[in-house]
Amino acid sequence: MKYEELLDRALKQMPEKQENSGERFEIPRAQSRIEGNKTFLENFSQIVSTLRRDSVHLLKFLSRELAAPAQVDERRLIFVGKIGAERISQKIEAYAREFVICRECGKPDTEFVKKQRFLFVHCLACGAEHSVRAKIV
Ligand SMILES: [Zn+2]
Repeated sequence: MKYEELLDRALKQMPEKQENSGERFEIPRAQSRIEGNKTFLENFSQIVSTLRRDSVHLLKFLSRELAAPAQVDERRLIFVGKIGAERISQKIEAYAREFVICRECGKPDTEFVKKQRFLFVHCLACGAEHSVRAKIV
């Protein structure tokens, strides 16, 4: 058997979860704790790297959606106010659906493309492009 055939067979025999990493993408969930009048999102930098988006962009979105001032402290995000982990997770999911996941194929392999004043999410998997709001205010 040729090497290519062996490789092909090996790939087919792999467990399903390794076949297509894009489909197995899971939106990260918030790991947070409340201390006093503040909420610490401990896995913020991990969320940023999973979503592959700018940390400031995500910070602005969460701060606005949760109506809580926020700032980055090393690898975590600190909100002023008491916010439950479930609420933060919902907003992370909303962010991923609006700014990360391709609306055509559902894959997370996307990048931002700026055209004049408009912002698009460009899918590296299927090539689709859709516009998103350029500013989070
Ligand atoms: Zn796509």
